[in-house]
Amino acid sequence: MNNRFKPVSRLTIVFILAVVISGGILTYFSINGISKLKEITEKRVIEEQRELATRFVASIQNKLEAVTIGFKNEIRQSGSMKDSLIKTATKHDFVILPFILRNNGSFIYPNFRDILENISKPTHSNRFKSAFRNGQDAEFVKKNLQIAKKRYLSCLNYSTRSNDSVKALNALGRISVKLNEYEDAIGHYKSVVLKYFEIVSEDGFPYAYFAVPQLLKITNPYNKEEIFQIIKIFLEKTETGLIPLNFNTEELLTLVNNWLQENSFNNIEKLAHIDELKKSIDQQLQFINENKVDLSEVLKKRGFNNKLESVNNFKVINSSTENYERLILINTNYKNPSGFLVDGEKLLDIILKSELQSEFEFDYNIEFPIKFDSNTTMDDLIYSSQLNPYFPSKKIQIKLNDENLLKELINRKSWTYGIATVLLLLALFLGVVLIIRDIAREKNLARLQSDFISNVTHELKTPLTSIYLFTELLLLKRVKKESDKDEYLSIILRESERLKRMMNNILDFSKSEIGKQEYRFVRSNLASIINAAIHEMDYWFENDKFDVIIELDENIDAKVDAEKIKQVMGNLLSNAFKYSTDKKKIVIRLYKKKKEIHIEVEDHGIGISEEKIPRLFEKFYRVDQKEGISGTGLGLTVVRDIIEAHGGKISVSSIIGKGSIFSITLNHNLAKE
Ligand code: ADP
Repeated sequence: MNNRFKPVSRLTIVFILAVVISGGILTYFSINGISKLKEITEKRVIEEQRELATRFVASIQNKLEAVTIGFKNEIRQSGSMKDSLIKTATKHDFVILPFILRNNGSFIYPNFRDILENISKPTHSNRFKSAFRNGQDAEFVKKNLQIAKKRYLSCLNYSTRSNDSVKALNALGRISVKLNEYEDAIGHYKSVVLKYFEIVSEDGFPYAYFAVPQLLKITNPYNKEEIFQIIKIFLEKTETGLIPLNFNTEELLTLVNNWLQENSFNNIEKLAHIDELKKSIDQQLQFINENKVDLSEVLKKRGFNNKLESVNNFKVINSSTENYERLILINTNYKNPSGFLVDGEKLLDIILKSELQSEFEFDYNIEFPIKFDSNTTMDDLIYSSQLNPYFPSKKIQIKLNDENLLKELINRKSWTYGIATVLLLLALFLGVVLIIRDIAREKNLARLQSDFISNVTHELKTPLTSIYLFTELLLLKRVKKESDKDEYLSIILRESERLKRMMNNILDFSKSEIGKQEYRFVRSNLASIINAAIHEMDYWFENDKFDVIIELDENIDAKVDAEKIKQVMGNLLSNAFKYSTDKKKIVIRLYKKKKEIHIEVEDHGIGISEEKIPRLFEKFYRVDQKEGISGTGLGLTVVRDIIEAHGGKISVSSIIGKGSIFSITLNHNLAKE
């Protein structure tokens, strides 16, 4: 038994050691994890902040590339530089306007023309010239407006080309204003703006620029709607570059503004459109004013200026002041250098609103501080850096949106780790306790089994010795008296019966252990079975002068395995006999109560202490008793197995020193046919 037990126990010890060591390691790491949690989480925050800054810078690059690549695709399709530039610019909110330059640095778009610049003086026919001079003479020298009007009208008739017509129309418009003939004036100027908007006077001044201020002088409210339309067309043509910008444009816009304020218009949509046109023209003017010098510088250094950052062959010129960010993208490789003016603030704003922080664990705030503190420590959890490369003067600073959230998270994680560790330790402890308990049980069972072997040997030896002794006596014919002979024979029989009961117990036990016990249920009279069992004990009871009281209801029949029930009774009676001391009284009862069959065996022997009662039916279990009564510890185990196989129950009530009652309850169903 010991040999079988030893390797199991060694394995168990190895197992316990493994559990304890791995538990210890896990606990160590868990505690370590909790203490390093703050550090780890902060490291994660800094990593995320760095990643966010990188994404931000990459996003700037992407957005600018989208403009330049978009433009290249556009021009590949349409071929028109100006259209492609305008189309690309309108696709990106942060692009303020596109531009095209001449190689000398002057502007093609926005179309800006100095008055004295590039003037190709308009030519007129001699006939027209003299007729026009006549008109001027009447208007300015003789001051006869009616005659002047007539002469200018004939000029119009003589005109053979646009140069002549627009000059005559312009003069007619002026005369009509002076004569307060507004309808006529509007008609003449309308033609100038709509038809001859490109043509300039001898001074290099577009005729449209004469027309508009004249129209604005007309105060008649009936004409204001028509004038509004002409102004709108003028602004549209200026905005798209058909009418060039010049040094007078700004002044002209002020006049338009004043006129609009003096003449109230209700159509908000129309006004908004005008406003947009004005704003755009303003922007163009502003762009030209601010960047004319810079751009011609760049053109001069073209090919040598490698210092500038570039996006797809577009050089990035940064025209930044402290709070004002404007980028110019210019490609100097084209025949006409061109590019875009980009609103840096808007670009950054658009990127700020984009999904830069998806997949991040925490929320961050991105700021562009004016004062830059590069000495922020790790503790502040603020990431600061220069927002290179296109915004050399800008700084980026990334902070946690809510620092408390971080603290809460660390707290929560610490708790979770802590609780998990405690649970783990508890589970380990419980596991070890269970293993130790199992070992104790195993040991106990091993001890019981080894006790059982010596008990069985002893139990077998006693009756065998008697049988051997008396058989020998009989065989040697040393017994003279007939009555002695009979007695010896009955001793041999009784001892054989005891032996049989014991063997039956061992056999039954081993069968039920491997689940091979078989029952033959036959309807039998219970009193007869019990009587037969008592009868087998008669000799012992009589020999020890037992007072055996039998109270059996003779009329109870039940479907039982008679042999097994007899074995049950034999075991109980033998126990009652074995564990009785001075008071040798046994009561055996069989009765029916509440449709249940009760069998009781009552003795007045040594009794059993209360705490031992639950263990009585365990295999090999024997209560340690001073008397040293022999037994196998299987009798009651077999009793319980048989009774349970009959669907019954067995219980014990006992008082130590007073005696015990073993009660069997069988279901009345067994009694039915
Ligand atoms: P055993 O062969 O030891 O009698 P059992 O299984 O029949 O084995 O009984 C188990 C133990 O229960 C006994 O060793 C004994 O200590 C106790 N026991 C059984 N019957 C009685 C009884 N009538 N009075 C006192 N103790 C008893």
